[in-house]
Amino acid sequence: MNYRHAFHAGNFADLHKHTILLAILSALQGESEALAVIDTHAGAGAYDLSGEMARRSGEAQAGIFQLKAAADAPAVFGPLLQAVLKINSGQPGDLYPGSPLLIARALRKGDRYAGCELRPDDAILLSKTLAPYANAKALEADGFSTAAVQAGRGGRAFVLIDPPFERPDDYARIAETSRAVLKRASDAVLAIWLPLKDLETFDAFLRAMETVTGDLLVAELRLRPLTDPMKMNGSAMVMIGAPASVDTAAVEAGDWLASRLGEPGGRSRVWRA
Ligand code: SAM
Repeated sequence: MNYRHAFHAGNFADLHKHTILLAILSALQGESEALAVIDTHAGAGAYDLSGEMARRSGEAQAGIFQLKAAADAPAVFGPLLQAVLKINSGQPGDLYPGSPLLIARALRKGDRYAGCELRPDDAILLSKTLAPYANAKALEADGFSTAAVQAGRGGRAFVLIDPPFERPDDYARIAETSRAVLKRASDAVLAIWLPLKDLETFDAFLRAMETVTGDLLVAELRLRPLTDPMKMNGSAMVMIGAPASVDTAAVEAGDWLASRLGEPGGRSRVWRA
């Protein structure tokens, strides 16, 4: 496991994923009593963008720093920008919240959060990040096999699946995990993040997910045409059971990201399948 999210924190894909994540969370809190949020691949929880890894990649400079400087960012980015301001104590700082901190800070009294992280060093960081939040816990565990168990323990389940895609079986394990979660909790909502490299990998994944559920929402963001499969050309969120208001949020976020951070030929598309 070589992947460290610290290289990628705050990049365009995090903006896409985290904006949609917060929109789902807010919509679910409007319609559900208590939520059980499960983050199968949690990472460290928070990132210092002035650190060695983030500076080396430069991805945050082309992501969150562009969003923070923009005068025309639509309202859909408000919750993420507020969370970024909060982690920096209201100053224009270099800290960026990962999915665990974004979720932990949004929890209501009856909600709970479990974040799984397999790398021991990131699992320690995750525990420290979550320490102030009584109803959030870090698990040094395999997120794929933990998701369904956690989803069946009460509260409306909302599962974020965000693997590093280092292993060729990640796509198959996502489909398998989604099926297991829905078997345990039929009203569960799932949000899966994917890199967009080439079209066939993405299409094959969607075909597999269509055998799992008839209730998919797909938010596809291409920064450029998918001509070079060796590059991460875009980002996608594939959701199961997403509330109706998430469609609009995904359109607003995707359109702005494609037009402001994309290259010629970049575009965003949101559809239900
Ligand atoms: N969700 C995080 C966020 O948005 O801030 C980023 C997560 S990062 C893309 C993926 C993380 O999953 C890495 O920290 C990696 O170490 C961890 N990981 C890899 N395989 C795992 C597994 N099977 N179970 C749990 N964590 C895993």
